[in-house]
Amino acid sequence: MSSTTKAVALLLFLACAGTLFAQTTGAPPSAPQTYSPIPGLDKSLMDTTADPCADFYQYACGNWSKLHPIPSDSPYSDQFYNLEQYNRQVLHAILEKAAADDPSRGANTRKIGDYYASCMDEAAVQQKGMAPLQPELDRINGLTSKDQLPELLAHYQLINVNAFLGFGSQQDFKDATRTIAVAAQNGLGLPEKDYYLRTGAKDEEIRKQYVQHVANILKLLGSSETQAASDAAAIMKLETALAKVSLDVTSQRDPHNIYHMMPVKDLQALTSTFNWNHLYSTTGSPAFTEINVAEPEFFKGMNQVIAETDLPTIKAYLRWQLVSSIGGLILPKALDEEKFDFGGRKLMGVPEQQTRWKRCVRSTDNALPEALGKAYVDHQFPAASKAKAVQMIHDIEAAMDRDIESLDWMSAATKTRAQEKLHLIANKVGYPDKWRDYSMLEIVRGDAFGNNLRAAEFESRRQLAKIGKPVDRQEWLTSTPTVNAFYDAGMNDINFPAGVLQPAFFDATQPDALNYGHIGLFMGHEITHGFDDTGRQFDGHGNLQDWWTKEDGDKFNQKAQCLVDEYAQFSVGDTRLNGKLTLGENTADNGGMRLAYMAFLARAAQDGVDLNRKSADGYTPVQQLFLGFAQDWCSEWRPELERLVATTDPHSPDRFRANGVLVNLPEFGKAFGCKVGQPMAPAKACRVW
Ligand SMILES: [Zn+2]
Repeated sequence: MSSTTKAVALLLFLACAGTLFAQTTGAPPSAPQTYSPIPGLDKSLMDTTADPCADFYQYACGNWSKLHPIPSDSPYSDQFYNLEQYNRQVLHAILEKAAADDPSRGANTRKIGDYYASCMDEAAVQQKGMAPLQPELDRINGLTSKDQLPELLAHYQLINVNAFLGFGSQQDFKDATRTIAVAAQNGLGLPEKDYYLRTGAKDEEIRKQYVQHVANILKLLGSSETQAASDAAAIMKLETALAKVSLDVTSQRDPHNIYHMMPVKDLQALTSTFNWNHLYSTTGSPAFTEINVAEPEFFKGMNQVIAETDLPTIKAYLRWQLVSSIGGLILPKALDEEKFDFGGRKLMGVPEQQTRWKRCVRSTDNALPEALGKAYVDHQFPAASKAKAVQMIHDIEAAMDRDIESLDWMSAATKTRAQEKLHLIANKVGYPDKWRDYSMLEIVRGDAFGNNLRAAEFESRRQLAKIGKPVDRQEWLTSTPTVNAFYDAGMNDINFPAGVLQPAFFDATQPDALNYGHIGLFMGHEITHGFDDTGRQFDGHGNLQDWWTKEDGDKFNQKAQCLVDEYAQFSVGDTRLNGKLTLGENTADNGGMRLAYMAFLARAAQDGVDLNRKSADGYTPVQQLFLGFAQDWCSEWRPELERLVATTDPHSPDRFRANGVLVNLPEFGKAFGCKVGQPMAPAKACRVW
C-alpha cells in the first residue's frame, strides 16, 4: 500500500491498461498462442479503404480487431498488450531456467526461480487448502474489542490488505528532499467511490453482483448461507459509508486536495476512538511527529463508521477484505474461481482466467522486481538501445525548449521558469544504476503463500523505513520489464523502463520517423506531464510551489478548458468521458505529439533526410511518423473495460487518444492533404503546449 498513495498523487502513467487490471486468475488455458514483436509500421493493420481525413484511427488501425482479436483471457487487445505478452514469454523462459533446482545458481536466480517454482506448484497449493490462510483468519476471530483494530490494521499494512485505511511513506510535496509518513483513504472493494453511489441500471446490477460475490466468499470461508447474506449486506452498508466520505478520483488529481500535514496528535483528534500509536508501533515504522493526512474528511468519517458498526460486522468485513486483497493464485481453487468470476468476468467481461504460468510470471515480477528485472535487461536491452533512447529524449527536450520559447500566450517571466524546470528534468532510461538488495527476503521453495506474504512485508517495511530519511532520487518505482512509462512530479523525472523500449514502440534499427512517432510521442507525453494541470504546480526541484504569474495561470486554464470540452464529447456505450479527469493525460498526448513532430523534423534536417521522398511502403517520413503514432493506439476493448476506464482512469480509451490529438495538429492535415472542415482538420483546434 505504501506506494499507492504516491501512485495516486504523483505517478501520471501513460497507459494504465496493463497495470490497472492485474487480477485475472488461472484455470483452463486458452489455445496456446505466442506473441511476436509488431513492426513500427504494420501495413496489414491498416484499412486503406478508409479516408484518412475522415477517421485516421480507422485508416491506421482498421484491421487490428481482425488480426488481433481479444484473447479469451483478456479484457482487451492492443499494442501494449501484445508487447506485454511478448515480454512475459521472455520472462517465462528466464524463470523456467532459474527454477531448475541447481545448487550452482546465484542468490537472486535462486530466489526468482524458487518463488516461481513454488507458485507453479498448483498441486501443493491445493493440497494445503485453507491451512496457510488459517492464522490470518484466527487473528480476526481473536478480536474481542474494536480497540484491538489498530494492531490488526498495522499487520494489514505490512501484507497489503486494503481494509479501512492506508499507512505508508511518501515524498513530501512541499519539501521534495524528504520522505514523510502518510495516512490515506482505503477500504473499498469496488473500483471507485462512485460505484457505490451512482444511480442507473448498470451500476445497480454491478452492486447486486458485488454483494452476492461478497456473500459467496464468506460462504467459502465457512459461513452459513443466511449468515453470509446478512454479513454481505452489512459489509455493503459499511463500504458505502466509507465511499461517501472518500475523495473522488478527479479531485485527487489536485495535489492540494491530498496534502494536509499535521502533528500526529491532530490526526488522533480526528479519530478519537482509533489509537494511531498502536498502529504505528505495530508496523515498526520510524518515529515521526508530523504526518500527511491525505483526506482528513475521510478519517473523520471512518472513525464514525467504526463507532457505528458492530464488531461482528467489522470482523466479517476484515475477512472479506483479507481474501479480496490476497492473490487468488495462493488460495484454494474455489476462492480463486470466485474472485475471478466477479473481478474478471463480471467487472471486465473476461470469459476465461489466464493460464497459471502467466500469473506466476507476473507474481514473481511483483515480488522480486529488481532480481527478475536484471535478468530481463541482460537478455533484452542492449547498450545501443539505451544510447538511442537517450539521444531521442535529448532531442525532445530541445524541442520543448523551442516550443516554450514560441508560445504567444505566455509571459517572458513564466517562460524562464518553465525552461528552468525543463532543464532540471532527470531521465531514467532502461534500468536502475544500482539494483535492490534482496538478501533479507526469505524465499522458501514449496511455500507459495509464505513467499507471497513475506515479499509483501519486505516491500512494505522497505517503504516504511524511508520515513524521516532523505529521498533517494536514484530509486526506480517500476520493474524493468514494465510496458509503461511515467513522469514523477516530485522527482521531476521521466521513467522509461526497458520493457517499453521494444518494438513496435521502439527499435534502434528502424527509421527515425517511426521511432519518433511511437516512443517519441511517449517521451514528449511524459515531459509534458511536468507542465499539465497537475505537473505545472510543482517546480523543477519537485516542490509543490506555484511558479506561474496569475495572468499566465489563468490563460493556461482557458487553454486547457478547450481540451476538457473536446474530450467530454467522446463517449463509450452510455458513458461520456470525463474531460476533467482525463485533462492531464490529454494535455500530455497533445503536447507530446507536437514535441515528437518538432524533434523529428530537427533530427531529419540534421541527418539530411529528404522529407518529400516516399519509402518503399509508399509513405513520406512525416506520414510514417503520424502512422506510427496512430498505431500506438490500435486496440479493441471489451465494453466492460471501456466503461471501467471511462469512469475511473485518467487516460482516455485508446481510440480517442489517436484522433483526439491529430485534429488539433494542422501539420497532420497537411501531411495527408486534408481540407480544413473535414473531420480530421477542423477549423477550431485546441492547443495548450
Ligand atoms: Zn500520462
